[in-house]
Amino acid sequence: MFESLQERLGSILNGLTGRGALSEADVSAALREVRRALLEADVALEVVRSFTDKVREKAVGAAVLKSIKPGQMVVKIVHDELVEMLGAEGVAIDLNAPAPVVIMMVGLQGSGKTTTSAKIAKRMTERQGKKVLMASLDTRRPAAQEQLRQLGEQTKVATLPIIAGQTPVDIAKRAVQAAKLGGHDIVILDTAGRTHIDEPLMVEMADIKKASTPHEILLVADSLTGQDAVNLAKNFDDRVGITGLVLTRMDGDGRGGAALSMRAVTGKPIKLIGTGEKMDGLEEFHPKRIADRILGMGDIVSLVEKAAETIDAEKAAAMAKKMQSGKFDLNDLADQLGQMQKMGGMGGIMGLMPGMGKMKDQMAAAGLDDKMFGRQLAIISSMTKAERANPDLLKHSRKKRIAAGSGTDAAEINKLLKMHRGMADMMKAMGGKGKGGGMMRGLM
Ligand code: GDP
Repeated sequence: MFESLQERLGSILNGLTGRGALSEADVSAALREVRRALLEADVALEVVRSFTDKVREKAVGAAVLKSIKPGQMVVKIVHDELVEMLGAEGVAIDLNAPAPVVIMMVGLQGSGKTTTSAKIAKRMTERQGKKVLMASLDTRRPAAQEQLRQLGEQTKVATLPIIAGQTPVDIAKRAVQAAKLGGHDIVILDTAGRTHIDEPLMVEMADIKKASTPHEILLVADSLTGQDAVNLAKNFDDRVGITGLVLTRMDGDGRGGAALSMRAVTGKPIKLIGTGEKMDGLEEFHPKRIADRILGMGDIVSLVEKAAETIDAEKAAAMAKKMQSGKFDLNDLADQLGQMQKMGGMGGIMGLMPGMGKMKDQMAAAGLDDKMFGRQLAIISSMTKAERANPDLLKHSRKKRIAAGSGTDAAEINKLLKMHRGMADMMKAMGGKGKGGGMMRGLM
């Protein structure tokens, strides 16, 4: 859905090379692409407009951080605004009401209401020790009540016994009554859906609401829904008054467009997301993760954030110069190892880069892990200044003392020295071609 946004942004961002502050022209060019891509991805026009307005307001004149490219700065602003529009912080289902707390699930047929009802019931039973009762109010689709009963059996959650011929409102009342008598903390009402929104459905939802006074009314919506997402959310909210959204099928190809539209037009929080057909396929909603997904830029944003926090441009420049001249001693290695630790270690850095997960596993298998960095730093700090500048000074007896001092052994010291030699040679070779720039820059 949003692949095109990623591509478009990628190409224009490369074009932004100025320094200092972001100019109106830079921002406008970027926003034109953002706008077009969002519209093509079926995000509602009103949502797109308000989104781009907000980004423009924040971006024009914004100072470009030292050591960050203007394009990256725009990505960051677009990203932050996406997070903001998606609700900034996650919001949980509110159970703060006298028992039994009624949760009413609404939405179109096939959106995942029944599945999600059972998932929520299971989670509250297992994680919060709640006693939950589920009831299907879908009298129109013959198999619906039976479907919920079976899910109840599977998840070990009680379901209201089925009585043929009752109306949805009757069932809702009976469920609340049964929960009171049975000492249930929570009642989940799984209402009937339609293939599209119609008047009788809205009337039925309003009647059920009146009869059961739900504390939460959750609109369950398929995240693959396109243009209709806005109408759907608006209609349910206007007519029934929803308290939150649950987006299903987030495990599919949907890239979060529906999330953006629905959250923006209703202002209601997305409380949970469905991530699979199985009963444990339910997760809390993290706006930041969805924004990353919509933007589709790996985790460039957090990489930029972390880099901004930790990388000192002057230091990097000095290091680059040193490397080019072929001088890279153990002091420099210790500096680099320290930088890497600050950025969350090997795992932190690799995890931020798309497609690097596998490499991380391979490195771990080879014993290259963060613990090793810690040991290497300990070894280097046990050396004298002269030894760090010229590792050839280290004779066997010194290595043994350093090993004792750093809680390692001579073999590990030799391994470190070998690694350093390899790196120094490599950097010298790179420096000769004028490509020096430090490990960190290489990783960027
Ligand atoms: P309802 O008509 O709204 O009650 O929808 P159902 O709960 O019967 O779900 C319709 C279909 O969507 C079923 O086959 C579910 O297994 C599937 N489904 C529901 N939620 C998810 C989800 O988060 N991910 C995936 N992949 N499938 C889901």
